[in-house]
Amino acid sequence: MSWQQRISEALSERRASASFRTRQANTLGNGRIFSANGREYLNFSSNDYLGLSHHPQIVDAWQKGAAQFGVGSGGSGHVTGYSRAHQAFEEQLAEWLGFERALLFISGYSANQAVISALAQKTDTLIADKLCHASMMEAAMQSSAQLRRFHHNDIPALAALLSQAHDGERLILTEGIFSMDGDSAPLAEIARVAHQAGGWLMVDDAHGIGVLGDEGRGSCHQQNISPEILVITFGKAFGGSGAAVLCSQETADYLLQFARHLIYSTAMPPAQAVALQAALTVIRQGDAYRARLSANIQRFRQGAAQLSLRLADSGSAIQPLIVGENQRTLDLASRLRERGLWLTAIRPPTVPPGSARLRITLTAAHTSHDIDALLEALYDETGR
Ligand SMILES: *Cc1c(COP(=O)(O)O)cnc(C)c1O
Repeated sequence: MSWQQRISEALSERRASASFRTRQANTLGNGRIFSANGREYLNFSSNDYLGLSHHPQIVDAWQKGAAQFGVGSGGSGHVTGYSRAHQAFEEQLAEWLGFERALLFISGYSANQAVISALAQKTDTLIADKLCHASMMEAAMQSSAQLRRFHHNDIPALAALLSQAHDGERLILTEGIFSMDGDSAPLAEIARVAHQAGGWLMVDDAHGIGVLGDEGRGSCHQQNISPEILVITFGKAFGGSGAAVLCSQETADYLLQFARHLIYSTAMPPAQAVALQAALTVIRQGDAYRARLSANIQRFRQGAAQLSLRLADSGSAIQPLIVGENQRTLDLASRLRERGLWLTAIRPPTVPPGSARLRITLTAAHTSHDIDALLEALYDETGR
């Protein structure tokens, strides 16, 4: 088969199974309002959980950072790209989360890839929750280590894998809050069985950081554990982008030697590090944002229960409405758009086959009126 034929066939298959993906260019997309095609929608698809993407202090910090440092970092952090702004932010993160070190990455995707590819060697075993994010799973599959997966949040299944004979080291991979289901991991128990077996634990808390725990320290703090590796991202509650790996002094030094995603990639712009420092300040003092988000989650869950909407069991900002078939999910999303609500259909292979869903995300920026409008539209359009 030629390249051309292979590409055409792959596209036809995607179209035939209603899993063809498209993007919608918006004029504004990250806040409470999604605006595209000359129309405004209430946005229930953004990960800007605290509504900080337009926070004036953070925007101002980014602008001042750009005026001071320019727009780019000029190179890899190992060459010229590592500024005092990056360093100060790393130190603040380490202090905030109680780790010896923090290392900044340009994205959560690259942070997960970097850590897994730098740590795992041939005789090692990576033991991952089945619902771990693609960025971890793909790194794990590409690595020369063995990959074993355990049923979602299933401690006995994890313990059984850990009791098997092994040669090298074991690294257990999970998330604080799962990105497509919104449920949280029983981190205290996972840490206990992982450490009893002498393994290391790596937690990706992309959706918990900033939102959960005292001063927004996230899932691990809330559940009182300290994993060997914590990955946090700034594309969600921080309202920006980028990521950090929190770890020990020696692990950080090791990653600086062996994490190719750090060494061979341009560092994040220093202005972004300045903006993220401002976001961290807002987040640490952000109880009011967290309270508004929780109130919105509660209002939505209570309203959905009254209307007998079948929601997944999630207490987080991610509230999936599982529909099942791809086409039905797409149709539902498009009917909701006609009513002025922006929701995205999430389909396989992002989620397991037959579990296409609307991934509803609630934020601190939504009003109670917005939540009620969503509930009313879901009630009407899911045909009850
Ligand atoms: C969003 C997300 C990532 C990717 O982070 P980016 O900074 O967007 O690349 C990684 N892990 C999880 C669990 C995520 O939800």
